[in-house]
Amino acid sequence: MPKAKTSKAFKLKHYISQYGEKVFSTDGEILYCKICDVRVGAERKSSVGQHVNREKHKRGLQRIQDEKQVVQQMLLGQACPSDFPPQNSAKL
Ligand SMILES: [Zn+2]
Repeated sequence: MPKAKTSKAFKLKHYISQYGEKVFSTDGEILYCKICDVRVGAERKSSVGQHVNREKHKRGLQRIQDEKQVVQQMLLGQACPSDFPPQNSAKL
């Protein structure tokens, strides 16, 4: 098995950078899905791909993305009123 040389931790970190730190975390040994609260088998790339395609995972991902958008809209609303219904800016 020559490919065993590839550091497992490195591979796990790669998944995290690919999918985001809010989605996966790792302790260097296992890949953990923060969204589903489960351990994900990361020995094979396909099992990670299968996991992120699960309905439960997608719903959870959608949920945190919605939350993120709300926060971004709030921030943008202050910095960039054109992206938001003009409220305070109209009065000024
Ligand atoms: Zn998941």
